[in-house]
Amino acid sequence: MTDYNKKRILVTGGAGFLGSHLCERLLSEGNEVICLDNYYTGSKTNVSHLLDNPKFELLRHDICFPLYVEVDEIYNLACPASPIHYQYDPVQTTKTSVHGSINMLGLAKRQNAKIFQASTSEIYGDPEVHPQAESYWGKVNPIGPRSCYDEGKRCAETLFFDYHRQHKLKIKVARIFNTYGPKMHPNDGRVVSNFITQALQNKDLTIYGDGSQTRSFCYVSDLIQAMILFMQTNEDFTGPINLGNPNEFTIKELAEIIIDTTNSSSKIIYKPLPQDDPKQRRPDISLAKEKINWSPKIQLKTGIEKTVKYFENIL
Ligand code: NAD
Ligand code: UDP
Repeated sequence: MTDYNKKRILVTGGAGFLGSHLCERLLSEGNEVICLDNYYTGSKTNVSHLLDNPKFELLRHDICFPLYVEVDEIYNLACPASPIHYQYDPVQTTKTSVHGSINMLGLAKRQNAKIFQASTSEIYGDPEVHPQAESYWGKVNPIGPRSCYDEGKRCAETLFFDYHRQHKLKIKVARIFNTYGPKMHPNDGRVVSNFITQALQNKDLTIYGDGSQTRSFCYVSDLIQAMILFMQTNEDFTGPINLGNPNEFTIKELAEIIIDTTNSSSKIIYKPLPQDDPKQRRPDISLAKEKINWSPKIQLKTGIEKTVKYFENIL
């Protein structure tokens, strides 16, 4: 029977790293959740513990094709997020952001549903402004190996704002900065999962470049909390809003923290820096503090300890 006090929520990319945490959280609040995924980088095992819940539904679908379901809210997370995966089939990556967004925006329009877009700090490219505030338009190479992701996500933002202006759609656009935690795939290819799996197996940690490039890492539970708070804000507030942890580390510092946390005998080795790899990245989260009264709680050391425990269990 339908519970009219709770919502039916579609999470695209729901079997991925962030999506599976989000499904869990939305269900714990009593909502019905439709988890959509094509399992390109996600996995059924991320959500297998939710399958017995009658309010949870798993749907194999590619958002590049239209979808007809009845929902109150949509969180659009479907898109490979790790450079090695989004560069493997770059045309599909752009299609997922562009055709996928058009399909999900069309669905939201038909249903008059509120729709959240998982945008990214990659909107800012290799930024000349530091830290990055939402007002910065970015420095993005339109024809490089990262462009399928960066420009796809930029075009998705354009589509969200045009649907908002043209069709009065209720949109929420969040620019997510590097987030990590349990349920990242061991072969995900992003830096935190790479370093932890390497350290736990006493293999060399592979730093790309000299390790002086910076990132600011947010623990997954902090991010999910921010996403939920943002979705609950007044309709007039569309974002874009930066969501991430403003504590900035060099990649070399991250490698040292992970070696230390795992008591690993691994050494650090250096490999070529990929083209267009951003040199620095740190979110200005003043807007998030003001609008959703949020700032991250979990410090890097604690978050890494929790993530290491997860990888120890699955490796
Ligand atoms: P992920 O790769 O674990 O999850 C993405 C999910 O989308 C996977 O389950 C994948 O199978 C699914 N997917 C991909 N293409 C699809 C398609 N065409 N149709 C249906 N499903 C599809 O990555 P994640 O870290 O969980 O990222 C989730 C979202 O958040 C992505 O949109 C990503 O761009 C965004 N984001 C993540 C981060 C981060 O640090 N984790 C940072 C910025 C933005
Ligand atoms: N990186 C690294 N070794 C790895 C994986 C990544 O040194 O094994 C570097 C990468 O070049 C980048 C940073 O770590 O400078 C973050 O990379 P990630 O792929 O996690 O995310 P993004 O570049 O999209 O922020």
